[in-house]
Amino acid sequence: MRVLVNGAAGKMGREVLKAVHNDVELTLVGGVDPTHGGKDVSEFIGSQPLHIKLYSSLQEGIDATKPDVIVDFTTPAIIFENAKTMLSQGIHVVIGTTGLSAEQRAELDSIGRAKSANCLVAPNFSLGAVMMMKTAAELAPYFPDVEIIELHHNHKYDAPSGTAVLTAKLINDAKTKANVKSSEDLTRESLPGARGAKVDDVTIHSVRLPGYVAHQEVIFGGYDETLIIRHDSLSRLSFMPGVVLACKKIKSYPGLTYGLEHYL
Ligand code: NAP
Repeated sequence: MRVLVNGAAGKMGREVLKAVHNDVELTLVGGVDPTHGGKDVSEFIGSQPLHIKLYSSLQEGIDATKPDVIVDFTTPAIIFENAKTMLSQGIHVVIGTTGLSAEQRAELDSIGRAKSANCLVAPNFSLGAVMMMKTAAELAPYFPDVEIIELHHNHKYDAPSGTAVLTAKLINDAKTKANVKSSEDLTRESLPGARGAKVDDVTIHSVRLPGYVAHQEVIFGGYDETLIIRHDSLSRLSFMPGVVLACKKIKSYPGLTYGLEHYL
């Protein structure tokens, strides 16, 4: 698979360049980043010159490298337009960028299917986070009172995190299937926002502080007991095995897939 990395000079993009370059089954063909066009990939991964270039626009990168798959870690503001550009040219897309709505994902699914281009949108590429979500959904029928605290670095653009929203969705689905609901919340906020944000029946609280990478607690309240699942991504390396696996498997999963768990 020939892999192009969009957002290549970003915090995630640099790790993806390195992970793809180091994988024997994948071929890194280039990167795209608006302010670094013309530079060699080696400047971003600390290696000897590789003669693999960064391009300043997505279309320029596609035309020059003819990728089979593009990995995108850019920004929520541009991901939808970029994904349409990539899929409409028949290129598979692995998306880590957060911010795509359910309606936008549905539109990308049909654009991709028309061009036999597959798409994975994964709010979290770490194996531990995927297991946290799966376990949370399994526990939800037994502990319907549940809240999520997600903690990220203070340069994250969006809140709540895509992982927290997907966790809440999986919990809500499991509760609906089991026909259980949380207890009535009788608290009245004296400061707006004190009780966090709701995704259906699940409350999410977002913490943004320097020092954090990506962390989440799912707290279940029971009869005189609590149960907490906690996941910590200690560095961005934790996402790389999932990204590499997605590049290798994407050709076998038609349409748009939401969540890495479907590839495992
Ligand atoms: P970042 O360091 O800000 O990197 C984003 C990069 O995208 C920057 O280098 C930026 O360039 C570049 N960019 C901006 N506009 C672009 C365009 N039109 N075309 C190509 N590149 C463009 O952010 P990050 O921490 O790497 O995170 C990126 C995204 O991934 C965020 O949405 C974040 O929430 C998400 N994320 C997902 C996961 C997951 O597992 N799914 C994990 C971590 C992060 P400039 O700086 O020059 O503008």
